[in-house]
Amino acid sequence: MDKVCAVFGGSRGIGRAVAQLMARKGYRVAIVARNLDVARAAAGDLGGGHLAFSCDVAKEQDVQNTFEEIEKHLGRVNFLVNAAGINRDSLLVRTKTEDMVSLLHTNLLGSMLTCRAAMKTMIQQQGGSIVNIGSVIGLKGNFGQSVYGASKGGLVGFSRALAKEVARKKIRVNVVAPGFIHTDMTKDLKEEHFKKNIPLGRFGEASEVAHAVVFLLDSPCN
Ligand code: NAP
Repeated sequence: MDKVCAVFGGSRGIGRAVAQLMARKGYRVAIVARNLDVARAAAGDLGGGHLAFSCDVAKEQDVQNTFEEIEKHLGRVNFLVNAAGINRDSLLVRTKTEDMVSLLHTNLLGSMLTCRAAMKTMIQQQGGSIVNIGSVIGLKGNFGQSVYGASKGGLVGFSRALAKEVARKKIRVNVVAPGFIHTDMTKDLKEEHFKKNIPLGRFGEASEVAHAVVFLLDSPCN
């Protein structure tokens, strides 16, 4: 029976690189993002048998419907990746409340909703693996990224607790917390400005993060 990997935020950047690697390993992939055309193009690039779904992770009903659709079309969810995320960098005093809410709803609440929705199928099948994409900003902080950092720091706390709740059901929960990675999210940043604080002296690539994510997803435990 084909195992299925749902990648929220799989249409671009880090999520897309994870989707490509999981497809290459022979798993069926569900690519989930708000923009269905972009998600369809990304799923099409993976070859046959992979599907795209439109969903805003910040919306409970969207998440619920998406899991139902994935299970209807692909049968199950064995692996879940939460790579859907946004940033709204600004000093806290200049940050609008609606931007705080949207950041927290997408980056933190969204992962809580998808993890909760995945539990039903993962508990039934007595196994599964989840990787949530955090950020070094959630661990170390950064100028102009207090709310983003809170969303990612919160994700670590959430994931640690959830891992303890569901390990007895053979479900593993991990966080991968990348530094700066070349994607649409960082395309307007001046790499020169940040390089001096990065030991390797460069931004990372999405494919490099994907290898770490897939290592955690595709463990012999599953
Ligand atoms: P990206 O290239 O901008 O891709 C973001 C992905 O998330 C897209 O597929 C996007 O598709 C989807 N998305 C955004 N909001 C969504 C929503 N409300 N519902 C569903 N899907 C949504 O970003 P990235 O750099 O790959 O980032 C992926 C994750 O890694 C994020 O959580 C980010 O915070 C984290 N991260 C990134 C870096 C970095 O330097 N790039 C570093 C550390 C952590 P749609 O727009 O079509 O919805």
